[in-house]
Amino acid sequence: MAGIIPYETGDIVEMKKKHPCGSSEWEILKAGADIKMKCLGCGHEIIIKRSLAQKNTKKLKKA
Ligand SMILES: [Zn+2]
Repeated sequence: MAGIIPYETGDIVEMKKKHPCGSSEWEILKAGADIKMKCLGCGHEIIIKRSLAQKNTKKLKKA
């Protein structure tokens, strides 16, 4: 996605790369300079920089 992606808590993000569990959808838990997200496939939680999240986001589904 181009430009600044308006992540907000509760949104669902579709990532370009699949998680090893097979899911490519993540739920936003916290959105700041870093983004905390939870894999909808296995429940794994990660915190990544917003810039990295933006690079890997394919689609954002607003809550
Ligand atoms: Zn997973």
